[in-house]
Amino acid sequence: MQEKENWITRRYELLAAQVVKNLESRHFEAYYCKNREEAAAKALSLIPEGSLVSWGGSVTLQETGLIDKVYKAGFRVIDRDKAKSPEEKSELGRQALLCDCFLAGINAIAEEGVLVNIDGLGNRVAATIYGPKSVILTAGMNKVCKTLEDARSRARNCAAPFNARRVGTKNTPCAVSGSCGNCKSPESICTFTVETRLCRPEKRIKVILIGEDLGF
Ligand code: SF4
Repeated sequence: MQEKENWITRRYELLAAQVVKNLESRHFEAYYCKNREEAAAKALSLIPEGSLVSWGGSVTLQETGLIDKVYKAGFRVIDRDKAKSPEEKSELGRQALLCDCFLAGINAIAEEGVLVNIDGLGNRVAATIYGPKSVILTAGMNKVCKTLEDARSRARNCAAPFNARRVGTKNTPCAVSGSCGNCKSPESICTFTVETRLCRPEKRIKVILIGEDLGF
């Protein structure tokens, strides 16, 4: 068992070194951390003092404990989960587009360094593209795929059905069967598919790869 864990750790280290290089060639700032604790500390160190911080829904963010650490560090936050009505939640999502630092996960990453994200409302991918001064994305190495086509497939066929279940979707093919049915349901969480192939301005997006299996 220990031998298996060692092998996985070594493979992730080797693969991450190449992916970090490929992300940097696309003008992202990129890091590899061996576990979730190290990743949360690294992310926290990248948030400038006094920042207004917000985030998108992400199991990886929950698993790293980063949101708790942001609260404990005393940053000002915009937290959509604290909204008391759908209207307030929507308004907080709009305000988050102008925060200083936005945190989120990643659905899939191609080894060549292209990020793939699928979003239902679009607030998460919108903030990634434009608005917040800085974006920090965290992802377990289980999100790294060989090709861009593999990453697209992972985002739709693996991450999206799990996330549909997570947000309580009931009337989509994936909620019923666990498999994507390429639906047009009003409940679909697959409204927007965003591929980020370059970071502009340079280093605005920081990607932290983590040597564990995290999120969906
Ligand atoms: S069935 Fe619909 S909501 Fe579910 S993964 Fe496919 S497109 Fe997305």
